Amino acid sequence: MSSSLSDRDQQVIWHPYTQHKNMLPPIPITKGEGTLLFDENNNSYIDAISSWWVNVHGHAHPYIAQKIYEQAKKLEHVIFTGFTHEPAVSLAERLLKILPGNFSRIFYSDNGSTAVEVAIKMAIQFWSQQADAGDQKSANDNHHVKYRHRILAFRNSYHGDTFGAMSVSERGVFTLPFHDHLFEVIFIDTPTKANFGHIKSVIDLYANEIACFIYEPLLQAAGGMLMHEAEMLDELLTEIKSKNIICIADEVMTGFYRTGKFFASEYLQNKADIICLSKGLTGGTMALGVTAASQKIFDAFLSDDRTKTFFHGHSFTANPIACASALASLDLIEKEDCVLRINNMVKKNKEFIAGFAIHHSPSNIKNHRQLGTIIAFEIISGNDSYLNNISATITKQAMQNGIYIRPLGNTVYIMPPYCITDEQLNKLYDFLMAIG
Ligand SMILES: *Cc1c(COP(=O)(O)O)cnc(C)c1O
Repeated sequence: MSSSLSDRDQQVIWHPYTQHKNMLPPIPITKGEGTLLFDENNNSYIDAISSWWVNVHGHAHPYIAQKIYEQAKKLEHVIFTGFTHEPAVSLAERLLKILPGNFSRIFYSDNGSTAVEVAIKMAIQFWSQQADAGDQKSANDNHHVKYRHRILAFRNSYHGDTFGAMSVSERGVFTLPFHDHLFEVIFIDTPTKANFGHIKSVIDLYANEIACFIYEPLLQAAGGMLMHEAEMLDELLTEIKSKNIICIADEVMTGFYRTGKFFASEYLQNKADIICLSKGLTGGTMALGVTAASQKIFDAFLSDDRTKTFFHGHSFTANPIACASALASLDLIEKEDCVLRINNMVKKNKEFIAGFAIHHSPSNIKNHRQLGTIIAFEIISGNDSYLNNISATITKQAMQNGIYIRPLGNTVYIMPPYCITDEQLNKLYDFLMAIG
């Protein structure tokens, strides 16, 4: 008898974020449709976390699939230096119209971490080229020109798993073995009325040395679905912008309506100079990253001196099939019923979280919160840590109920695709309500 897919997997696969010793056998998924994932025995599970926050319109969406098929038959890929193609240009044009802020150029890569790497490299090189231009004499005198080189980031942040992205992320369990190899970053807390003065003094201290500030607007997702006030972030951005620091909004997760608006930056008056997108960009079907830059950033790289080129690119830069799937996803988002469904989910989430407070206080639940399409709370059990074992227990209970969720330690959350039906959403609420 041939062995099962799960057995074969366990012979050859190394899974992400998975401790393989004593791991539960992975569940083969054979099919996806709408919010549902189907296993080999045709059990279905509501994908309540949008498959790690990427899915937007549901699984195996026929319209996106069709567009991918059409593009694959026409042009599957081409080198993106010296050449261009319709899906890349059309997607850039459409993104520039909807992005929150004055962006004028789209740089493509293939995931969230690389979108962040690109942003950081743009910001650092921007200042290095300013130093060359403005300070030619001292550039000749000193081999090492002092230019803005420091980076500012939030505590509890998560910007990806490559080295630059890890460097600007919280030093924690994900990054522990690499601390000696990560570059130095100035970390500040997310702003509140109470800590604002202190944060300001830190920024003042280094103001002229800080090249850029990278932030996840309103929601630190991997950090534990931590939410902060738009108003306070806006005050902080005003402060930071007054120091001429380049602002990088990492909207890899918050983009495409997760927070109830197209982009979380729409809750803010202050807009970024660089913005990073991925995850929901293709509706969750293909790997694609975008780093959008303002004219000011782009202009700093224009030069007769070829060393000022942005020497960065990936083999699959602007992959046409990925761009086509992003265009298809945008088509679906721009249909009226999509935003209506999002608004409906946001409204229902608000009602649920209000009722949840009454049902669960006092209890073993704390910090229940909601932002747009996302609901989160902590279970009071052991410590507040990603390694809390309660996560596996909750996932198992959920699966038995036909729901897939994957708590971040003791932080339980849902973030469903927007095609979720009221009935499915109520099923998620009932499950959450029964916890505790
Ligand atoms: C997921 C995530 C990333 C990394 O994206 P990958 O595609 O997983 O590399 C970066 N920033 C934020 C805010 C994220 O949530």
